[in-house]
Amino acid sequence: MNDFALLGLLIIAIGIGFFLGLRAAKKNLAGAAFAPGKSYFQGLNYLLNEQPDKAVEEFVSALDVNTDTLETHLALGKLMRKQGQVDRAIRIHQNLLARPVLELKDQHQVHLELARDFMTAGLLDRAEVLLQEVIGESTDLRSIAQRSLLDIYQDESEWQDAINVAQALLQSRFMKANVEHKRNLQRMVAHFYCELAEDCMHSENLIGARQYLDRAVAADKTVYRVALLSAANDNAQGRHKQVIKVLSRLELQDPAWFWMCLPALQEAYERQDAERGFEIFSRHLRSHIENHDAPRVAMYLVDQFIARSEDEPIRVQQASEILSVFVAQYESLLASNKLVELQINDASKHVESDVCRLHSQVSELLNQRNRYRCGDCGFSGRQLHWRCPSCKTWESMRSIENQSTA
Ligand SMILES: [Zn+2]
Repeated sequence: MNDFALLGLLIIAIGIGFFLGLRAAKKNLAGAAFAPGKSYFQGLNYLLNEQPDKAVEEFVSALDVNTDTLETHLALGKLMRKQGQVDRAIRIHQNLLARPVLELKDQHQVHLELARDFMTAGLLDRAEVLLQEVIGESTDLRSIAQRSLLDIYQDESEWQDAINVAQALLQSRFMKANVEHKRNLQRMVAHFYCELAEDCMHSENLIGARQYLDRAVAADKTVYRVALLSAANDNAQGRHKQVIKVLSRLELQDPAWFWMCLPALQEAYERQDAERGFEIFSRHLRSHIENHDAPRVAMYLVDQFIARSEDEPIRVQQASEILSVFVAQYESLLASNKLVELQINDASKHVESDVCRLHSQVSELLNQRNRYRCGDCGFSGRQLHWRCPSCKTWESMRSIENQSTA
């Protein structure tokens, strides 16, 4: 147990002492002698001897269970859960429920805490049952229980259930009064529909995917992922002109995401015009990198030129020229390293091995570097997640590499 938790426990112990003293004073007024029980002093003893686990047990037995002391019991339970001692937290909360004296509203409060214990312990089914009960019976705690249930459904990838809960939450008074929360929830709903649309696309159900994407747009039309999935879906249905139109509009709206559109955009250009499609696509990308510091777009274009260099050797020369211009303009390490790779063959023999070594060292450094970062909590990693694994926010991660200075 860390110092912070010990301090929390000490504060709770003082609270319990205060409560017992207050009760003693009341009883004395009524003429009965009273002193805090043995368990309380035993608990303090354990606390002073740095045995917080035993102290908790003693405090729980020192304190009656009633509406006045409920908050203290709940605080002890919460403290245990935060310390990772979920078993003990569950015991505290189950002990509360075993007492018939608790009013119904207090029972709901305990159910909510117990559900959180179960969630922390990974017992999601049991948490779900308790939360459903609170949602059904308590108007005061309904919204809070719905938020927790929403977390469970997201963790379990139960997207339709998540949509149902989110839509019920959107109807609540709390959401209607809080514009920011409402907007976040609508964005989440759009992502839930995207998940369902992706499932449909994997099973080649393009019509089903289109229906889910339409609902995603209705929930939040600013979600970038909807546009990307729509583009993939439209390409599969032969609507290439529409793909180029939509993705070009997105490029203007938010250039930072443009690199993610490139495979769909390339497919649309090439399938629309088999002969000149790639040329038109590459002109589009050249124009983008002339106007934006976008190394990932430059690298994508260069990789495409190199992939085609077997048919037309001149492509490597074109790729080098594109990179030279880009590096001169934006000083990108990623692009510089690629340029060195392309020019190694032209290096004179006595520097070739040095250049090769430098290139492989820089490549290794670049590979180890995290590529994406969450704008909300700062979590970074090498994989793009639509939902940040740390703070669980949707669409908060951005490519770090898409700017040379990053
Ligand atoms: Zn985050």
